[in-house]
Amino acid sequence: MTQQAESIVRAANILFENGVMSHTGHANLSARLGADSMLLTIDGQVRNLTADRVATVGLDGVVREGDLDPTNAEIIAMHSEIYKLRSDVGGIIHTHSPSLLAFAMANQALPCRYEALLRWGQSVDVPVATWAPRGSDKSVSAIIDQAKAHPETKAVILGNHGVLVFASDPVATAQLLTVLEEAAEAELAAIGLGGAQSLPESALAAIRESMARVR
Ligand SMILES: [Zn+2]
Repeated sequence: MTQQAESIVRAANILFENGVMSHTGHANLSARLGADSMLLTIDGQVRNLTADRVATVGLDGVVREGDLDPTNAEIIAMHSEIYKLRSDVGGIIHTHSPSLLAFAMANQALPCRYEALLRWGQSVDVPVATWAPRGSDKSVSAIIDQAKAHPETKAVILGNHGVLVFASDPVATAQLLTVLEEAAEAELAAIGLGGAQSLPESALAAIRESMARVR
């Protein structure tokens, strides 16, 4: 458990060091803990996070240990349902990262056409889940529906809200989130140059092949 808590702290620090947080510094992070539970940050403030500011929560939604703030009790299902859906996911992060937030505000998918996305495991466009009140069944269903409809995606843009990213562990998730924010920022900047261009169809296969070679 300590190891997972430290991994959450490291992931939160990466987000601030990489400059991908919104002005409020709002985020929630979790790590899978055993077969049926997770560690979840106790509230939405993760600046200077310490390893004691996490709670153990069952994937059934019941808090087992720790003082989870009521504002974060609302977001339990957004994390637990992803762990239940994707057995390979070990870390989940939700932020309002500014350039990804622009896509969320516009309710637009983030196209997959930045090479680094492929290298960090995002090989498809990031879909958008339609807005519903934070933590509501409707909101969670909208996110899970997109994750199911796009089995290759490791992130979902939350319409008019932010983004949810899920990868093998919290640190890998923070690194993928950083690359997603870079991609979103570059997409917006490229509009002034006539718009980003798509990668050739063969790009994904070529990247997979070259990654297999270095392993
Ligand atoms: Zn949020």
